[in-house]
Amino acid sequence: MPLPSPWRADFPAIAALQRQGQTYLDNAATTQKPQALLDALNHYYVNGAANVHRAQHLPGANATQAFENSRSKIAHWLNAGESAQIVFTHGATSALNLLAYGLEHECVAGDEIVISALEHHANLLPWQQLAHRRDLKLIILPLDANGLIDLEAAASLIGPRTRLLAVSQLSNVLGAWQPLPALLSMAKSHGALTVVDGAQGVVHGRHDVQALGCDFYVFSSHKLYGPEGLGVLYGRNEALARLHHWQFGGEMVLTTDYHTAKFRPAPLGFEAGTPPIASVIGLGATLDYLASLDHAAVVAHEAALHRLLLDGLNRREGIRVLGAPQLALVSFVVEGVHNADLAHLLTEQGIAVRAGHHCAMPLLKSLGLPGAIRVSLALYNDSDDLERFFSALDQALELLR
Ligand code: PLP
Repeated sequence: MPLPSPWRADFPAIAALQRQGQTYLDNAATTQKPQALLDALNHYYVNGAANVHRAQHLPGANATQAFENSRSKIAHWLNAGESAQIVFTHGATSALNLLAYGLEHECVAGDEIVISALEHHANLLPWQQLAHRRDLKLIILPLDANGLIDLEAAASLIGPRTRLLAVSQLSNVLGAWQPLPALLSMAKSHGALTVVDGAQGVVHGRHDVQALGCDFYVFSSHKLYGPEGLGVLYGRNEALARLHHWQFGGEMVLTTDYHTAKFRPAPLGFEAGTPPIASVIGLGATLDYLASLDHAAVVAHEAALHRLLLDGLNRREGIRVLGAPQLALVSFVVEGVHNADLAHLLTEQGIAVRAGHHCAMPLLKSLGLPGAIRVSLALYNDSDDLERFFSALDQALELLR
């Protein structure tokens, strides 16, 4: 049964890509943008750019108001208690680095930081390097056969020396929701801080950070149909108050002389320098657009497409799907075929999917694989996209086998 996307026409790049012979199925890497975002960027630049929080003039006041309105919209999107709990960074990666530097003083030699075996490099390397700097132990939670963080193992590995737990909500390789409530409650029972990498999770469904109960939640705008160069860090008030400042410059300071300074609290104290103003305003417009959609219909469409993708792969011989993906994406390898060769033949046929280690080298290594192909979906994809993918896959496999 065909599965058209009612929202496809809202994303002009999809038609443009199709004219270029491209079928875009690399949405976990980044997404195409809705017209509502393009209109907002155009409106901002055409009507007058200005810096925020500095100028008393009208363009500055307009930009500041639009910028702060976006902060409120993002707070609302995540159900944060107040907009001051939303800190703008340059991406999920820079938000996680902010945390790894801003919380460094909380750790003493021998303390433990707990992550999982499936983390993206962005949620591994900042903690790994913090562990090196402070002589901490980095504990890696293992996965079960379905690619979920193993809760039994977690219960024995999270303990009184755990200072911080940092885990992904939805794996960018395995496409499975991680058991966050159980993990967060284990960490909290030992007084540890909790960080959720929502880079993939935030794109699928709505999440309530207060109900989730994490101390920090991070994501990147560009994966949520928003502009690039912008990340979001949500923090509970008590957790934000524990962060030390890590980047220094304009607008984050309250008072300074040549030798000493007093800094602002969150959010502005963690937004040193000129922020990505247009991107912040653009993300607000993107969220307005997303909020206008029939949420249940989006979830149902994405689920139906995912079933189609998974069934199609499972029907083909010699294909091994990684883990037990629940939504959004499927990573796979083909027996006797190198993922780079397959990726090359898919690319030649205009199929844009991701191949390689997906910025999760240790995970791929632990699965005994040099890499995998990942097909990832967005709300604008349809069953025709998948038909083109499968037809290209069959042709490629015929050649390679
Ligand atoms: N975390 C996860 C799970 C991701 O998939 C990604 C990007 O692929 C990131 C973090 C890093 O996001 P960014 O590169 O936008 O900072």
